[in-house]
Amino acid sequence: MPIFQSSTFEFSGADDTDYHDVRYIRLNNTPNHVALATKLAALENAEDALVTGSGMAAISAALLALLRSGDHVLAHDCLYGGTLSILNDDLAALGVTASYVDGASPATWEAQLTPQTKIFYVEAITNPLMQVIDLEAVVAFAKKHDLVTVIDSTMATPVNFRPTELGFDLVVHSATKYLNGHSDIVAGAVVGRRDLVARAKKKLDHFGGTLDPHACFLLHRGMKTLGVRMRHQNESALRLARFLEGHAKVLAVHYPGLESHAGHARARQLFSGFGGMLSFRPKGGVAASEAFLRSTRLAISAPSLGGPETLITRPATTSHAGMTPAARAKLAISDDLVRVSIGLEDAVDLEEDFSRALG
Ligand SMILES: *Cc1c(COP(=O)(O)O)cnc(C)c1O
Repeated sequence: MPIFQSSTFEFSGADDTDYHDVRYIRLNNTPNHVALATKLAALENAEDALVTGSGMAAISAALLALLRSGDHVLAHDCLYGGTLSILNDDLAALGVTASYVDGASPATWEAQLTPQTKIFYVEAITNPLMQVIDLEAVVAFAKKHDLVTVIDSTMATPVNFRPTELGFDLVVHSATKYLNGHSDIVAGAVVGRRDLVARAKKKLDHFGGTLDPHACFLLHRGMKTLGVRMRHQNESALRLARFLEGHAKVLAVHYPGLESHAGHARARQLFSGFGGMLSFRPKGGVAASEAFLRSTRLAISAPSLGGPETLITRPATTSHAGMTPAARAKLAISDDLVRVSIGLEDAVDLEEDFSRALG
């Protein structure tokens, strides 16, 4: 796919009756945008897709398209920090309210419904404990109560899980992560029901969160290797999770591929791979975690995920630093927890690196 590095295109005449049909980069309809949207929809087995300037642009366009002042959102209590801020700060300022549900207890959801509840927003795999909630119950609950379902499937990727096949209405992605897979651009996607994607596109067109054609090209190229990358990362993460679980200096490991994980049976049933993300607690508290972060040679201490290099972070100081210690404790995110995004290195090399760092 060549790069169409043109902000505007020759007007094709009277057929362009809608402003949104005029070919212009911000309107997300250049050949690069169209090629990507087609590929994303095919990967997710969905009706339609939209590529966006970032994961946050995808999430904000989807939420702004679905909600208006007075509406209420039912959301998973373990959301990505940026999404939580959109709900609690930006949408709250526009008169939208949100309630956070315990994903593990579907029986408690109904009590939090209001007559204004419009959407149910969840994540396929939560960060940083890699929980997999009862996603079938989410879809059934939403159908029963006439809610639109939105799922952030960034960590699962369409290789491991295609939420629309389960009945989700909209899927959002940070394409910055696995879809692109090379830690070199920021991008996002909204995928799902055609009517809802069209509404999200209008918001994106107006608010301006478009992706540059060159970044479209890089994302398109990155997605060509998504399948092989994910299969490698699924395999390596499972191997490392098993290695850590059996290690004398490790207290706990969170990975949906482990039989010891609370979401294992569900992940087995719904996903075709358990993903490349895991977290663990070394014995010896925060000091041991910090020592581990300083001691690896292959794994790099950095936020973000889904790239070719293995990245390690301590969520209490990065992704979840904005939360109070009490709020983190409520979600069982301990200060000693280390999160790992398994990269494309040889798994044997990674195991050696982890083994030496733990030692
Ligand atoms: C990174 C991330 C986002 C935000 O995506 P950006 O591309 O950084 O805007 C949203 N959800 C999840 C699960 C993420 O990991």
